[in-house]
Amino acid sequence: MPKPWMKVFSGVLDTLYPRHCLMSSQRLDDSKAEFSYLSDTQTHYLRGIDSPYCETCGYPLYGLAQDSSNCQKCDHLDPHFKGNRSAIIMNGLGRRIIHAFKYERAFYLKRDLAAIFQRMEGIRLLLQNAVIIPVPLHPRKLRERGYNQTQLLAELLAKIEPSAQVQELLIRKKDTLTQTQMDRTERIRNMHKAFTLSRSPTNIDRSAKLLICDDVFTTGSTVNECAKTLKKAGYSDIRVITLGHG
Ligand SMILES: [Zn+2]
Repeated sequence: MPKPWMKVFSGVLDTLYPRHCLMSSQRLDDSKAEFSYLSDTQTHYLRGIDSPYCETCGYPLYGLAQDSSNCQKCDHLDPHFKGNRSAIIMNGLGRRIIHAFKYERAFYLKRDLAAIFQRMEGIRLLLQNAVIIPVPLHPRKLRERGYNQTQLLAELLAKIEPSAQVQELLIRKKDTLTQTQMDRTERIRNMHKAFTLSRSPTNIDRSAKLLICDDVFTTGSTVNECAKTLKKAGYSDIRVITLGHG
């Protein structure tokens, strides 16, 4: 659709179906704003992660740590990936956005989620020629939820950088338990041998730049198990990208 018509179309849509801020319910009508469902006041609460951040888990170092190769948060992690980058800290707003997208079918947030990723330092470089691998859901969970939120996030990322591609290289063979209430040890045990390759690894070059995509980086046990599976299959350039850290 030509641009002037797009403007008229979105104006008509906003009149017929007014947009409201996810957090404050304030009515929003600026179709050119960076965010469609977050008011300017709310976007100030988005805690983007800029350098310096931990090279392993991506948590901001706030200038306190001398060694950026790992921080206290990932002290006990034996990473099979080169490093995670998260876009935002999981504060109240971050949690609300991710919860709505993950559990409430809030697909209308896609544009805002892409905007959050686009704010990340060096995002285009990180995505350049990357094979983005969404953390898979178990088929039972996928049937229950109807969609895999990390698959949708991976597709958003591939739109930011055209040289990136999404490949469902992993499948979840173990129907793992929800980890919200688990500690680090329980999470590691829960994720042990949870994934396997979904197709012949020869389909994707072993030297490819792999980027595992998940919604949240908590202890790193899920993405680390994914990375371990990929490493065993012969891949070595494995990184992680997540929307939130917390
Ligand atoms: Zn760390």
